[in-house]
Amino acid sequence: MISEVLSEIHQIQRQLTDLNSRLSRGPKLIRSQENAAQQVTARLEEVRAEYRQLRQQAKFKEEQLSQHEAALARRKTQMQEAKNNKEFQALKLQLSADEATDSALADEALAALEKTEKFALNVEAIEQELWQINETLKKTQESFSKEVPAIQENVARCSERLKEEEKKLSGDFLSIYHRLTRTMGGDQALASIAGEQFCGGCRQIVPINFIAQVVQGKPVTCKSCGRLLYVPEGFTVK
Ligand SMILES: [Zn+2]
Repeated sequence: MISEVLSEIHQIQRQLTDLNSRLSRGPKLIRSQENAAQQVTARLEEVRAEYRQLRQQAKFKEEQLSQHEAALARRKTQMQEAKNNKEFQALKLQLSADEATDSALADEALAALEKTEKFALNVEAIEQELWQINETLKKTQESFSKEVPAIQENVARCSERLKEEEKKLSGDFLSIYHRLTRTMGGDQALASIAGEQFCGGCRQIVPINFIAQVVQGKPVTCKSCGRLLYVPEGFTVK
């Protein structure tokens, strides 16, 4: 009879532990997703700053090139307007040097542009990553806030049932139970005899005479872990 009460109390206690861990799991998950979002946001800012720098560099190279090309065009006009062959030859020499510089500048401008375009993919990938994290976070928040009322309702119901069951305890059972729930926590205060001879809490063998006392309805605690023992329904001593 007392074993039935303890078994019922133990079951409710375990249910309460499970419900409470579900209640704390949501906020933990949300916090970790918020942290991830913060980290990716910081990384995105860094990468965006780097991207802005690359774009400026590419723009600078582009301007350098177009200035040089304008100078080159002027040089060609000067050649056409050369007053004599000596001047023409000097300008022609200058022009071929300018053309070499121009080609190098064009290569540099193109390389800078390519580098910038490639880097833009980096930025996009991180933006995508952040979007994904925020979506997941939103879903977690939504599903958790939907789940919470039902869990809380369940906690309230279990607590009520627990109170009712606890009223059935008296004497030594009540004082031991109170002491153990205080020191070990609700679902750790009790253990059933498992596999006919083990303490269900610590898996140590419980001597047969102790088990017999439990069956007789006496308060017995496990000598290894200190839990208050009960026998499962239909238990018989062999
Ligand atoms: Zn034990």
